[in-house]
Parts: sequence; structure tokens; C-alpha cells
Amino acid sequence: MTNLNMFSLEGRTALITGANTGLGQGISVAYAKAGANVIGVARRSCQETAEKIAAFDGSFKEIIADLSDTSVIPQIVEEAEKAFGRVDILVNNAGIIKRCDAADVTEEDWDAVININEKMVFFLCQAFAKGWLADQKGGKIINIASMLSYQGGIRVPAYTSSKSAIMGLTRELANEWARHNINVNAIAPGYMETNNTQNLRSDEQRSEEILSRIPAGRWGTPEDIAGAAIFLASDAAAYVHGFTLAVDGGWLAR
Ligand code: NAD
Repeated sequence: MTNLNMFSLEGRTALITGANTGLGQGISVAYAKAGANVIGVARRSCQETAEKIAAFDGSFKEIIADLSDTSVIPQIVEEAEKAFGRVDILVNNAGIIKRCDAADVTEEDWDAVININEKMVFFLCQAFAKGWLADQKGGKIINIASMLSYQGGIRVPAYTSSKSAIMGLTRELANEWARHNINVNAIAPGYMETNNTQNLRSDEQRSEEILSRIPAGRWGTPEDIAGAAIFLASDAAAYVHGFTLAVDGGWLAR
């Protein structure tokens, strides 16, 4: 019989960025249910996430940090290790989107999106992988990509650039670190009901266009991402490297 313990995160510590809401909250709750100690990093309080995890006596600690500047990384690593010792799983989930015609995008908005969605992701991977390379005990990285890692999108040039970069970066890091027992993979969510898609969903015409193209016939939820996120963080994914797994209700199959 298959040993389902391979999916357990018991005894592991996972750090998830953007854990206060949306997909980051969904992943945090799922990891705590799977047995992990969860560290949520966010700009704002993770009170709601903490309460959801406390409801089943899960283990959660928050670190408040603004992820628009890499200078916060040493403090994040230090606080995380102080809370639970070694971090075993890193989920780069925090991200922003700015919708604007390409002709009108400002340099400030471009930099804001690239800094959080791309630059910070790389330097957080680097910070945790350095420790994992040194102790040779391995680790798991899950980056949150997007349908716009595969497609062009419209009115989101910086976002598309950053999410396309995430898919490439995930492959690159896997090539360097797979032999050190570090699994670097990504999840590409489809169209999910979170703040990120609030504007899209409130635009009746765009909302209808999107919905009618999703084979599953509905928007995704933060719970929909739990299975893929647990799988990629667990021993079950030991030989999965550099892959971006779509959780998209079939969107890419169209
Ligand atoms: P969301 O807007 O609800 O959550 C974004 C998270 O990022 C929040 O926790 C926020 O606090 C955090 N964040 C943003 N800027 C930050 C900063 N400067 N410092 C610290 N934290 C910061 O949206 P979401 O849908 O939950 O997005 C999570 C990830 O999933 C993002 O990377 C997003 O691009 C990606 N994604 C979402 C969808 C979707 O349909 N919702 C689809 C594809 C990819």
C-alpha cells in the first residue's frame, strides 16, 4: 500500500511570504494542517491567518516586513530561525499587480512590481539556499508563478515580465541546486478569487470573458491550491525539479 506519510509536513518549518490573505493564507493553513510550523511574512498583521491556524492548534508565527526592499532579508532569516530553528520550505507568494496600458506605465510602477515579484524572490531563494547548501540537508522552494508565465496578458506588462521570469528562474535554480537535494518548483495559479483579481471580477464584461474560458466553470479559491502546494513541499516531490505546475481549472488546456 502507498505510504501517504510521504505527503506529511510534520516536523518541517515553512516560511510563506504574503501570508496575511489570499493564496498565501490558503497555503499557510494547508501547511499547518499538514503538520508544519508556519512562518508568515507580510507587510500587515497576519491575525486572520493566525486565528485560522490556532483553531486546530497549529503552529504559526508572523514576521512583519515590507518585501519591496532586499535589505529586510537578513532580519527575516534571523527571526525565522529564532522562532523554529531551521527553515525547510520557502514559498515565495507575495506579489503585486498594476494594471495600466503599456504606453502609460511609469518607471516607479515598473520597479515596484519587478522588485517584489522578481528581485525579492531571487534573493530570498538565495538567502535560504545558502544555508541549505552549507548544511547539505536539502530544502524546498515553491515560487508562485501565473498564467502570465505562459501567456502575454494585457495591460500588465511589468507583471507579465515578472511572472515569466519566475518560470525561468525556477528552472535555472533547479539546474544549480537539484544535486544538493533542493527542490525548486513553481505553481501557476489560474484565475483565483483574491484581492489580486478584485478589479477583474468587478468588471462585468472581463469577468464573464474569463469565466466562460475556464473549463472548470468557476474561479479558483485559496483552498484549491493546497494540494499542489503540499505535494511540492513534501517528500512525495523528491524527484520533481524545475517544474511549474498549473492549478488553473483547465485554463491552459484551452
Ligand atoms: P493578494 O493581493 O490577496 O495577496 C498578495 C500578498 O502579497 C498579500 O499577502 C500582500 O500582503 C503581499 N505583499 C504585497 N506586497 C508586499 C510587500 N511589499 N511586502 C510584503 N508583502 C507584500 O493576491 P493573491 O492572489 O493571494 O496573490 C498571491 C500570489 O499569487 C501573487 O504572487 C500573485 O501574483 C499570484 N497569483 C494570483 C492569481 C490570482 O488569480 N489571484 C493568479 C496567478 C498568480
